[in-house]
Amino acid sequence: MFDMDTSENVSEVTDSNDAGNNDSLAPKECRALLPCPPQQPDDGDCCGSGCVPCVFDIYEQDLKIWKQECRKIQEHQKSQEIQYDGNLLSELEYRKFSITEVKEETKNCFRYRLELPEFTSLGLKVGQHIIIRETHHGTAVSRQYTPISDINCMGHFLLIIKIYDHGRMSHCVRKWNICTEVEIRGPFGELHYSPNKYRKLLLLAAGTGIAPMSQVIQSILGNEEDDTIMQLFYACKSYDQILMKSELNEWSSFWNFSATYVLSQETSNKASYRYGDLVVKGRMDLEFLTKNVLPMDINPETFVLICGTKSFENDMIECCKLLNFKDTQIHRF
Ligand SMILES: Cc1cc2nc3c(=O)[nH]c(=O)nc-3n(C[C@H](O)[C@H](O)[C@H](O)COP(=O)(O)OP(=O)(O)OC[C@H]3O[C@@H](n4cnc5c(N)ncnc54)[C@H](O)[C@@H]3O)c2cc1C
Repeated sequence: MFDMDTSENVSEVTDSNDAGNNDSLAPKECRALLPCPPQQPDDGDCCGSGCVPCVFDIYEQDLKIWKQECRKIQEHQKSQEIQYDGNLLSELEYRKFSITEVKEETKNCFRYRLELPEFTSLGLKVGQHIIIRETHHGTAVSRQYTPISDINCMGHFLLIIKIYDHGRMSHCVRKWNICTEVEIRGPFGELHYSPNKYRKLLLLAAGTGIAPMSQVIQSILGNEEDDTIMQLFYACKSYDQILMKSELNEWSSFWNFSATYVLSQETSNKASYRYGDLVVKGRMDLEFLTKNVLPMDINPETFVLICGTKSFENDMIECCKLLNFKDTQIHRF
């Protein structure tokens, strides 16, 4: 976002459909004052699996928000001011949250603590995520992220973000530091979970796919009335790339939670693992699941949650179906 100022003719901006071309939208003196328009996703950016919201939905919403922001500039309003309406988050407006702590979680993965007003929580339901917007080479880029902190956590929330070498958002996130203000809207997505709805949850995660799982795990472990058993199979390249390891260690002391780490490129030996950790070298595939999912758990009382890369999720869905889980027993975040 550039400095805001008054300008005539911004209405041209709000009426234009050509969001990708800021030059054609407004007089020259006004262009520099406008927020960057969102970039339209390519057809290949959609995974075709019916995500809500889909990348095209996010683009359409961002386009609307961008037009509104431009209109606000025309109307001399401060477009980025947080107007507290009882909810910290809004689905339709980006609001700013300040980073108060940055920690390296593993190689290329960072943990960010963002500040909330005292005694308030972000207002997510279990399994929900947010959308973050940044500016990359003159266009707005927005991506989804799932806070890893307990949904009831007050005064702050936590994100874990992996930095990809050629990622557009990664390029921006790499520069985040203490006091960086991050533009966020949400919440989105929903997992229709209620305590004791299932006897067992099978959690299949890869990499940053641990993020939504962590919300589910914390919500169940934090509720003494919820006796749901959780079995996590967590795929990572190596032991030192396991995310949220200190939390996983703590959760493993609960009677109803267990974690198995499935390491595809591990080279170190057993001696360097924490005592008691269940570690399997190899890939999480049908052979692994056939060996490790108990036959007694393949019944309607088990529910499967899946989160990871698109290919991991597709593979896991296939495997689960081959293990005789029904579509209605599988949720992909
Ligand atoms: C509901 C939801 C929740 C999410 N929560 C989190 C979260 O909590 N933390 C988090 O780090 N990410 C999360 N993601 C992924 C995140 O939204 C971005 O896709 C990711 O940060 C990459 O964005 P980018 O702009 O840097 O990369 P892009 O510009 O989109 O991609 C550029 C290149 O980066 C690499 N790349 C990008 N994504 C992946 C991937 N998943 N696996 C392997 N290579 C990849 C590829 O080489 C790709 O070609 C979530 C995604 C969804 C849909």
